[in-house]
Amino acid sequence: MNSLSSIRAFAVDGDGVLYRGNEPLPGLADFFAFLHQHAVPVTLVTNNATQTQQSFSDKLARFGVTLPPDAIITASIATAEYLQKQFPPGTRMFAIGNGVRHALEAAGFTLAERDVAAVVVGMDTSLTYAHLRTATVHINNGAAFIGTNPDKSFPFEGGLAPGNGAILAALAAATGVEPFIVGKPYPPMFELALQKMGVDAAHAAMVGDRLETDILGGKNAGMRTIAVLSGVTSAAMLAERDIRPDRVFDGLEDLLTALRETRK
Ligand SMILES: [Mg+2]
Repeated sequence: MNSLSSIRAFAVDGDGVLYRGNEPLPGLADFFAFLHQHAVPVTLVTNNATQTQQSFSDKLARFGVTLPPDAIITASIATAEYLQKQFPPGTRMFAIGNGVRHALEAAGFTLAERDVAAVVVGMDTSLTYAHLRTATVHINNGAAFIGTNPDKSFPFEGGLAPGNGAILAALAAATGVEPFIVGKPYPPMFELALQKMGVDAAHAAMVGDRLETDILGGKNAGMRTIAVLSGVTSAAMLAERDIRPDRVFDGLEDLLTALRETRK
């Protein structure tokens, strides 16, 4: 059960796993070189809804890692792909957040202020009261209420800043309607990663640093889960929680050492 040898594909989180901010974490380039060498599919699965796939690909390239944009699943891209399964092309949607607006347009939807079938909400640092009011009216009129990711806050230089989860909470409070959320820990994002990698959940692992998103979501999706302690979760925190990953490593270097043992 806890063996790494049957894992045929890896979905990996970004911050706290591959890099911390703008610094690569130890073992990053070697980890990807190993996966490429053994033809193991890998996707980057991030709840970030503001950056493009290309910007993550460029960032990894600066760290010596080649990962094409198509192998990068942001919360905005996953939301647009999910909505393509629910609504026909051209469907009118009211969207908050430039990241998800860009993704919806690229997916063939029509951004609109009126007569919309869905309200789609992603992180927006230019959010205004008028945006919240328009979204509230549409949700009350029966438009689907979709969120890219549930993160309530995120760190910035001055402390913690409100995240997309806080925007969703404002709309949920105003309407009494809870959003359908695409990002981790909810299933659509993991399903998209498995689909892109062409493997079933039982033969794929989710590697992440955050228990309540990466690990819980991976478990719920039926994947193997690997926690690394190079991000937000310490060994002491892990011991206190009832979310149990299948394996725990200090970071990518240790995971890679263990992987090499299985492929000798
Ligand atoms: Mg992380």
